[in-house]
Amino acid sequence: MARIRKVDTKPELVVRKLLHAKGFRYRLHRRDLPGCPDIVFPGRKKVILVHGCFWHRHECPAGRKVPRSKPEYWGPKFDRNRARDARNAQELAAIGWRLLTVWECELSNLETVTRRLVRFLR
Ligand SMILES: [Zn+2]
Repeated sequence: MARIRKVDTKPELVVRKLLHAKGFRYRLHRRDLPGCPDIVFPGRKKVILVHGCFWHRHECPAGRKVPRSKPEYWGPKFDRNRARDARNAQELAAIGWRLLTVWECELSNLETVTRRLVRFLR
């Protein structure tokens, strides 16, 4: 299946900027980790994923949206995305990594997101 997420999507850049401003340094897109996580903190063994609500089926209005055309195509595609996210999270946990998912819609409140990020990384 083709990649559903472009590298350097905008929400990810927003999160990276927040982290940088807080003094956190990270690595990007470690291909040797399950799911090639977006933002990686090797010393802390922590990763942050920035998920688009639509593609990754967040429990928010954007994540519940289903295109009106070709439901027989979108349903299975969304199921696969969810299954893959769950599998990646399990595999990361199994090798001792902790994971924080930041949803696109959360970026409407940068203060709250920043607090979550800092709490996760401390
Ligand atoms: Zn959302």
